[in-house]
Amino acid sequence: MTVRKLRIAMLSVHSCPVGTLGAKDTGGMSVHIRELAGKLGKQGHTVDIYTRVHDPKDPQIVNLGQNARLIHLRAGDEEIDKLAVYTCLPDFVENLESFRENDSLQYDLLYSHYWISSLAGKHLQQRWNIPHITTFHTLGAVKNAIGIGEKEPDLRIESEKEAVRDCQHIIATTEKEKTSLIHYYGASPENISVVPCGVNMELFRPVDKEDARRELGSTDDKIILFVGRIEPLKGIATLLRAMPYLQDGHRPRLVIIGGDKRSQPEIEKLQGLCRELQIEDSVTFLGMIKQDKLPYFYSAAEVCVIPSYYESFGLVALESLACGTPVVATDVGNLKDIIQPGVTGYVVTENTPHSLAEKIDRILCNPQPHTESALSIRASVHGFSWTNIAEAINRECQLAVDNYLIPVL
Ligand code: UDP
Repeated sequence: MTVRKLRIAMLSVHSCPVGTLGAKDTGGMSVHIRELAGKLGKQGHTVDIYTRVHDPKDPQIVNLGQNARLIHLRAGDEEIDKLAVYTCLPDFVENLESFRENDSLQYDLLYSHYWISSLAGKHLQQRWNIPHITTFHTLGAVKNAIGIGEKEPDLRIESEKEAVRDCQHIIATTEKEKTSLIHYYGASPENISVVPCGVNMELFRPVDKEDARRELGSTDDKIILFVGRIEPLKGIATLLRAMPYLQDGHRPRLVIIGGDKRSQPEIEKLQGLCRELQIEDSVTFLGMIKQDKLPYFYSAAEVCVIPSYYESFGLVALESLACGTPVVATDVGNLKDIIQPGVTGYVVTENTPHSLAEKIDRILCNPQPHTESALSIRASVHGFSWTNIAEAINRECQLAVDNYLIPVL
């Protein structure tokens, strides 16, 4: 395989890779795109990520480090609903073309993220005659099969089917996602590679627990942590219902991080549940926290809990483990492959308050010497460093370009 320096156009139309994390539509995918583009740029590729203008103050071009930049294009009003972005796709594609022509840009590869971008990618692929790789991050058909939260529209399901058929290659982040792509959308197994998500091991590292608590001004004995967007699929209600089952004596505090003003109705529902369960004094909703502060929260906590019904991957688990804090999670995303039972946490087989509480209790009851265990928990996720993951994605990109060049006889 010839390894060449590629000019890559990435598409992240609906969600801005530098948007505020923990907001309704900005989470793991944005982190994935930003980190990946940065690392591919360092490898010598040129990466332009195209997204919509989401805020009038957005500069058109944002430098994301060596050879990587983010380009904001006008398409529709700034604050529109995710689904409404679909109707802006023709404008987005035309504006991207004008930008590219003005700057005389040429690309070797298109890499789209999420179904809305996959559709834009399909049109650009046909115009530019270059290979198109897509990563879906979540799948509408899987969300609908779970049946929690808003139903995903037929438009999304049909568009994902179309994208599966028309793109040159798919990178899934888990084997589960690959199986779902085959099962729901008839994807060909040979068209799908599985490359997990990565974690920024430089940012996410253990901080001394006492220092971390001092930094946060926390006086609580035990901290149980949730980090993520606030939506029904994240299963926060199950975690709240688990709280009364915890053994007495731990004085645990549940700290919930994430959620913006658009998540407010869901936050209010959860606060109502706290009152019903009479646990409002033991639960704190902190709202969004900047990623560079999160290592303090992960390190201050005894355990991070991921009670989700669905995760495409579950980046928060990697971040917590990289900070040396064990994770209790449901069997979603890649978590069964990441968490070593009894060593770095637990994966519950049943998503019930009682099962979550039982595993959280096991960790709260068995505090290990902090430094030693934090370092060994961290070591368990070294393989997921972005340097390794970007290298695996680089190989997929090279193959897509090489295979595209082979003339079809
Ligand atoms: N996150 C953050 N601040 C918050 C909430 C979340 O920085 O207030 C980040 C978190 O560090 C993680 C991402 O958002 O990188 C969430 O990713 P995950 O894969 O867990 O969930 P998704 O958003 O993909 O459903």
